Amino acid sequence: MKQSNVILNGIAASSGVAIGKVFILEEDDLVSVKKDIPQDKVNKELARLKIAVKQTKADLEQNYAELNKMLGENYAKIADAHILILNDPMIGKEVIDCVREGNIAEYAIYAVVKKFSKSFDAIQDEYFRERKNDLIDVAKKVTAHLLGKTKKTLADLKEDSIVVAKNITPSDTVSMREAMVCGFATDFGGKTSHTALVARSLEIPAVVGLKNISYQVKQGMPIIIDGNNGIVILNPTEETIDNYKREYEIQVSNRKALEQFKDLPAVTTDGKEIKLGANIESPEEIRSVLKHGANGVGLYRSEFMYLSRTSLPTEDDHYLNYIQVAKKMMPYDVIIRTIDLGGDKIAKLGLMEVGKEANPFMGLRAIRFCLKYPEIFKAQLKGILRASVCGNIRIMYPMISGVSEIKAANRILEQAKEELRRDGKTFNEDIKVGAMIEVPSAAVITDFIAREVDFLSIGTNDLIQYTMAVDRVNANIAHLYNPMHPAILRLLKWIIDCAHQAGIDIGMCGEMAGDPAYTVVLLGLGLDEFSMSAAQIPQVKKIIRSVSKENAKNLVAKLLECNSMQEIESELKKFRYI
Ligand code: PEP
Ligand code: MG
Repeated sequence: MKQSNVILNGIAASSGVAIGKVFILEEDDLVSVKKDIPQDKVNKELARLKIAVKQTKADLEQNYAELNKMLGENYAKIADAHILILNDPMIGKEVIDCVREGNIAEYAIYAVVKKFSKSFDAIQDEYFRERKNDLIDVAKKVTAHLLGKTKKTLADLKEDSIVVAKNITPSDTVSMREAMVCGFATDFGGKTSHTALVARSLEIPAVVGLKNISYQVKQGMPIIIDGNNGIVILNPTEETIDNYKREYEIQVSNRKALEQFKDLPAVTTDGKEIKLGANIESPEEIRSVLKHGANGVGLYRSEFMYLSRTSLPTEDDHYLNYIQVAKKMMPYDVIIRTIDLGGDKIAKLGLMEVGKEANPFMGLRAIRFCLKYPEIFKAQLKGILRASVCGNIRIMYPMISGVSEIKAANRILEQAKEELRRDGKTFNEDIKVGAMIEVPSAAVITDFIAREVDFLSIGTNDLIQYTMAVDRVNANIAHLYNPMHPAILRLLKWIIDCAHQAGIDIGMCGEMAGDPAYTVVLLGLGLDEFSMSAAQIPQVKKIIRSVSKENAKNLVAKLLECNSMQEIESELKKFRYI
């Protein structure tokens, strides 16, 4: 194919350059085309169906074994549920009958799924209604075998593969962690969408919000991801490849050079020591957290335990998960954020309203969900409390909008403690409890909130989205999502000052904390703790070690006088050249 440099512009989600071949992450589909077969061929068709079902069963069993080994039995339950559907005698009989009537097997599957889907839709119970998707998943798998399509999965990836997809969901990212992906590009997403966070935590260059890249690529096509500039190049010329190869080499040597900072303290030239924590979503990330020299886990997004499973985690599941993290991170702190399901983190648990709302980002999510379903919340709190015997675990409530939510959450925490005492289970009686400041109403009353908690952490991903009324995953308005808006700067100053006046720790765990472009600003605002994807720590540490707190403070005083983001950004640029 003639090389021609087709350049697509998107949003730079994770820095770095990747050169490779397109791997399209696509879905299998059902076949709705009706094709008749003569009666004397029916038995042959049934034999073909039988083989496809057998192959699917083998795939599912393998899948079960792998998930079980990798993530534990609870994650493997999904594959188990799919095996049950595949073996369902009623569904199986309907498909066989449809083939006997003279239809090809692919169409018989489609017709039966369509019929059963209607019955599922009529079910009142949301959980059972949702199982329709499992039936469709299984039907697609059998169809793929009938068609002889061996669907490519992330496990088939070669080392230079760049994943292209419409969207990469949080549950896709579970397998992404294990696979050899060297970059990715998606139609949807913004800088702080979950896909982007995962890319940064895995140190994979990524461009998101490309609108229609998934329609423009072919499997195996040469592609370059420029995560520094938010550009994707399809069919690059030799010259472009050479230029990017040079850039890639610079990237590798820069990363190497940053390794020297790993064991050095994050201290400004005038002696202010900053705590640099890591954001994680699963215990497997601890190795990378320690490798990059973090002083703790500033945000454990615990809701990831709820994704990719069909049943709720038990108190023991929580306990075992957190104790692992706490032990590995000793003596550093681990801040466990209680579940923030909803928004782009939708669990497949058939959990009541979650994910079924018109506007889930502003719906029944996080602490609102937990207060509505206290038993689910309590199971997690008890798990956290039991793991706190290690002594370094803290609890943090997400999406707090006012004081009463903290009080209500604390009442459930007290009940959890009481039940543990009654059962003779030990925990840290002095466990520290904090809140995220990520809803503008909470930000405005940080002075009141600060009196109710032991620490605060600013969640800029949501705080900016709600303050600016800019959906954080909407590529069309991504240019408006800017931490350097004067309103954001003022709000951050107010929040940090309130925390200091109340004498409590104030950190930040939103993506802004890990963006080297804002490190000096946050230092000047007086932030004490920064938490970010582990891979970003060395770069942020390098900046902290090269400036004085005093200079950073003076810069912020100037920035606070600016009335537009353009003015703030140009002042900021000047500072970097001093
Ligand atoms: C935030 O909103 O800044 C945050 C850290 O939480 P999440 O990105 O998980 O919503
Ligand atoms: Mg948030």
